[in-house]
Amino acid sequence: MVPPIVTTIQEIRAVTDAVRRQGQTIGFVPTMGALHEGHASLIRAARAASDYVVVSIFVNPIQFGPHEDYAKYPRTLDADQWVCAEAGADVIFAPRVEEMYPPHFYSSVEVARLGDHLCGASRPGHFRGVCTVVMKLFNIIRPDIAHFGAKDYQQARIITQMVRDLNMPVRIAIEPTVREADGLALSSRNRYLNPAERAVAPRIQQALQKIAQRVVAGEVDVVRLESALEAELKAIPGARVDYARIVDAEFLQPLVRIDRPAVIAVAVFLGTTRLIDNWLIGDPASW
Ligand code: AMP
Repeated sequence: MVPPIVTTIQEIRAVTDAVRRQGQTIGFVPTMGALHEGHASLIRAARAASDYVVVSIFVNPIQFGPHEDYAKYPRTLDADQWVCAEAGADVIFAPRVEEMYPPHFYSSVEVARLGDHLCGASRPGHFRGVCTVVMKLFNIIRPDIAHFGAKDYQQARIITQMVRDLNMPVRIAIEPTVREADGLALSSRNRYLNPAERAVAPRIQQALQKIAQRVVAGEVDVVRLESALEAELKAIPGARVDYARIVDAEFLQPLVRIDRPAVIAVAVFLGTTRLIDNWLIGDPASW
């Protein structure tokens, strides 16, 4: 079945209220569309965990900076509907911007501290925009479980913290990063890459792996590891490093030595396309 597209808050509430009244559980996958196999894996995880699956497709203007790619972000709703159908979604919520942000919209949600570094530092206001839209979507859909990708590790951590801090009645499930055969993490932005950029893009993940191997081999000095990581990334033709950091996996703060679960996180521009990826060291299951 091709899942119907619902565009108003009133309509999606009517749908999800009816599902809940029947005693069914709701799984939710928030996305910005341009869906790929990474999104499909989240939808399949939701399909397996819940009775009814809602996918939202909304390019959220308030999480983009003034010079970022909001206007040119890919919008492929027809193709997205098929990805949702194949992965087992029951309904798509694709509101217009005015539906989510009517005139006189003044509120926002911010998680302190976890956004101090990595993308939070490079993209001021980004996670405030993400938290605000995710909280709105949770309040509209009221899911039992919401599924997020580990590819956006800082985002997943911040959402988990928001839900915990604000006692929001939803469980956050974090699903593994889906990669191309050559290791490149799937991203809606990969379609911006020209053939030369696409050819070298897997080296981002190779750099992460090399550094992770050095940790496994016993290197724990973060300054040394970060400079080796930066050197690996700078050696990629056409690459400009936005950040290359190793932070603790729980609160995303800088480390001196790797003495607890950590995440190696990078953002790299290839031409004008900004790609992010990360690699976990140790088990952050203690969250
Ligand atoms: P986006 O549409 O890019 O905002 O992403 C929507 C959701 O899909 C987020 O939870 C992302 O972390 C997740 N996602 C994006 N790319 C991947 C991937 N390659 N593997 C797993 N999840 C992903």
